Amino acid sequence: MKERYFTKSKFSLSMECPTKLYYASKPNEYASTKSDDQFLKALAEGGFQIGQLAKCYYRDSNPIDLSDLSNDDAAYKTSELLLRDEVVIFEAVIIHNNLFLRADILVKKNNHFRIIEVKSSSANPNDQPVFMKKRGGILSDWLPYIHDIAFQKLVLQNAFENSTISAYLMLLDKTSTCPTDGLNQKFKISLDTNGRTKIIVSKSLSDEDLSRKLLREFNVDDEINYVYNVEKYKDGMSFDQYVSYIANMHVNSEKVYPIPGKVCAKCEFNSPDSNTLNGFRECWAEACNFKNSDFEKQSILDVWYYTKKDELIHNGIYRPIQLNENDINPKPDNKAGWSRSERQWLQVQKAQNNDQTDCLDKDGLSFKVDKWVYPLHFIDFETAMPAIPLNKDAPPYQPIAFQFSHHVLHQNGKIEHVDQFINNEIGVNPNINFVRTLMLSLNRDSGTIFRYHNHENTYLNFIYREIFNSKDHIEDKEALLDFIKSITQSPSDSIEKWTGDRCMVDLCYLVQRYYYDPATKGSTSIKKVFPAILQRSTFLRDKYTKPIYGATDGISSLNFKNMQWLQNKNGKIIDPYQLLPPLFTDIDITNKDIDLLFPDIEIKGGGAASIAYLRMQFSSMTPIEREALTNALLKYCELDTLAMVMIVEAWLDMLKQT
Ligand code: SF4
Repeated sequence: MKERYFTKSKFSLSMECPTKLYYASKPNEYASTKSDDQFLKALAEGGFQIGQLAKCYYRDSNPIDLSDLSNDDAAYKTSELLLRDEVVIFEAVIIHNNLFLRADILVKKNNHFRIIEVKSSSANPNDQPVFMKKRGGILSDWLPYIHDIAFQKLVLQNAFENSTISAYLMLLDKTSTCPTDGLNQKFKISLDTNGRTKIIVSKSLSDEDLSRKLLREFNVDDEINYVYNVEKYKDGMSFDQYVSYIANMHVNSEKVYPIPGKVCAKCEFNSPDSNTLNGFRECWAEACNFKNSDFEKQSILDVWYYTKKDELIHNGIYRPIQLNENDINPKPDNKAGWSRSERQWLQVQKAQNNDQTDCLDKDGLSFKVDKWVYPLHFIDFETAMPAIPLNKDAPPYQPIAFQFSHHVLHQNGKIEHVDQFINNEIGVNPNINFVRTLMLSLNRDSGTIFRYHNHENTYLNFIYREIFNSKDHIEDKEALLDFIKSITQSPSDSIEKWTGDRCMVDLCYLVQRYYYDPATKGSTSIKKVFPAILQRSTFLRDKYTKPIYGATDGISSLNFKNMQWLQNKNGKIIDPYQLLPPLFTDIDITNKDIDLLFPDIEIKGGGAASIAYLRMQFSSMTPIEREALTNALLKYCELDTLAMVMIVEAWLDMLKQT
């Protein structure tokens, strides 16, 4: 096989940014932060299992699966099979000039092809149109998928000019539910002897398991026609002109001149690996004239929640120093604390003045603190959304809350890790037990409850709907529903609206409105705020440099003994998350790296803990491995709630300072 074929994945990468193609083609020179670990991806995204389930729906058509063949062998076999009048092929290889594709499912019937791309995203067939905006144009969330299948249809049409083709996306159907219990257990993820990820389909997979389809084919010919005939690409090129241009650039190993934009903020070629070249730095040096010292300072990419990044970067504004007040237009929003624009302006001004001090709106925060009821409770959930649900009648991406941690801070400063919950059983939906245990844990008093961001509220609302709609007899159904309502806010799409009288306080929101530390570069993620405040607060530094956590006369802990959370290396505090045992001992990857690798699937329960749970569900583990992973998860979640406690401790101390 020619080394320089242009594949659909390369095409998709070029649609994110065409310059990336060059760096991706030189992996030994340019490091990438994106995981190419297929096993982790399979766990995180569920795509491998969905791909296999899709194939099972075709099992009555005697399909031929070429996935185990090399590209060359699969190309040869495909051309042989396509001599037949009718055939269904999995992973067929089609080559035309320098364009190459492996089609998930290709169905040939005489002179007509159906090409089907399987994705693990979910869509609602009742949304009409599903993929187009009402006023025309493809919805941005679906555009990468439409581009992907449009590329495949183009290659196929070029290769078979006299055939007709219809193209489909096969997606999880939001309106469908699982026909049986334990279907997900019939698609186990494993590694073969070459270290490649494989899905083992159980021999017990029955007709009943496939009787109600979780996946549905959506015809996308209209959307593809729109892409071919209306959309414009680089320098006004049409779709096929762009494909031919970018394929030639790739084949000739030429770099597309970078056009930086907000997309650069998440560029995978901005790797901290100092032994390799850094594609991000190369682009910004080339196109924005950045010097080495510029990369140490904040750039326009760091300005928090700023929507004009593309516009300003394209106008040559790359640094906060180049911004003026009119670019931000700071003004209040009739709520307590800083508005979004006021916080942005604070960040910009500090960057302009090279002011590294933190900023706490003491009056504003004090007003909130005065309303808190002690003891204060801090909770954090670990959750997952398996694409193939655990139970009969559950929808795809069934929300599962499998773990929580609960810390208490008393008015006298005493801290206790009072409770935790974890369920690591295979195929068991823990949601009701989870919320029942949480209710017992929180209802001992009426103290204020804290969460960090919306995750806990979102999942409790998911469970509310699950319990509300359940046809099973749940003895304490009303009590559970009342409890959830008492500590949550109703979801925005709920007909019934409520705000619980003990509604959880969002600590992240308080950070957004009252606290800014330049060390976080504008981020309000707890993974950035926690290490920054630990470095900043003398109170925390004095307290946690001693091994008091889990000590007999220190802070009670359910999982740690004599832990010293504040440890230094080369004068810098070690991020406490780096002190935890890794969740994946057999893969060379840290918990933090996993969180960074899959940041976009948070609502699906992305992140290290969720992936660890999915691993327990979908791969073979010995009881010893399972226990070790469970213990690591308990520590991981405990630190999440402890981090919240420490942020509040630091604030309370700062409020006492004059
Ligand atoms: S830094 Fe920006 S322009 Fe360069 S490759 Fe990454 S996304 Fe593209």
